Amino acid sequence: MSIEVNNITKIYKNQKALNDVSFKVKDAEIVGFLGPNGAGKSTMMKILTTYIEASEGSANVNGFDVTVDKKSVQSSIGYLPEHNPLYTDLYVREYLNFNANVYGTPKSRIDEVIELTGLTPEAHKKINQLSKGYRQRVGLANALLHNPEVLILDEPTTGLDPNQLVAIRNLIKTIGKEKTVFLSTHIMQEVEAMCDRVIIINKGEVVADKYLKDLRDGQEQIVIVEFDYRVEDTFLLKLPKVSSVKNTHDFIYEITFSTKDDMRSHVFDFAHDNELKILQLNQKNTSLESLFRELTS
Ligand code: ADP
Repeated sequence: MSIEVNNITKIYKNQKALNDVSFKVKDAEIVGFLGPNGAGKSTMMKILTTYIEASEGSANVNGFDVTVDKKSVQSSIGYLPEHNPLYTDLYVREYLNFNANVYGTPKSRIDEVIELTGLTPEAHKKINQLSKGYRQRVGLANALLHNPEVLILDEPTTGLDPNQLVAIRNLIKTIGKEKTVFLSTHIMQEVEAMCDRVIIINKGEVVADKYLKDLRDGQEQIVIVEFDYRVEDTFLLKLPKVSSVKNTHDFIYEITFSTKDDMRSHVFDFAHDNELKILQLNQKNTSLESLFRELTS
């Protein structure tokens, strides 16, 4: 397991930023940590990178405890903070060289990370001459210098133009083939474009943890139906492939089916057989977007 978070709570003076958060990230997974601004994403990342300590709970990165074994955690992770701090007066190679010395990384690794992050054509330039997209590449190259197992990226695509966005997403996906990537974002599309899995956080609590594949396959479907009369929930549970029934308002029911087949005709037949009139009948989208909106609104 690359990252293991157990019941983490973080309280800043009088602000509870994380409340009993638990999750695990497996090796070579790209996991998106998705939530609106203020949800607690940066706080979680700072705990995992040992910059701050949790108020309660524990976390391991690459098997090392973030409070007990800080040095081992730091050498296991590459971290790209939200505001990528670069010495903009330095040349790209000079900057990486400087950090390689700090880490005690062999010089040969500098060329490797320059190539890996597509920096070769810009490597001779000063950082302040680079576009935001290339600066992000320098940040990623820097995070990869000591060849860490786990990359922790805080909002890595924020502020990029559409072309830079595509390039950096692709780069992160390439890196994710070999390394575990845990990235935060408040933009749902970023998760769809890059991640295998999404953990949604809202107001300091994990509210969903799903594989994108499962969301895309849509193995679950919700039908919203309004009848002209009250129906017992247990009666609706007789519908084929139904997994749950919720009476949301007056005669309106939210029926969850465990199938991707359109179940509306079954609901229609059911109403007909039981002499009920249907006043509305809709399918609810269970994609990431609607899930995110529903869980964080
Ligand atoms: P996100 O990264 O999802 O935008 P943060 O982790 O930065 O969220 O913040 C979570 C909550 O904790 C917010 O309400 C924020 O105002 C609060 N917070 C973050 N850092 C501090 C701090 N150093 N002192 C007090 N409150 C903080």
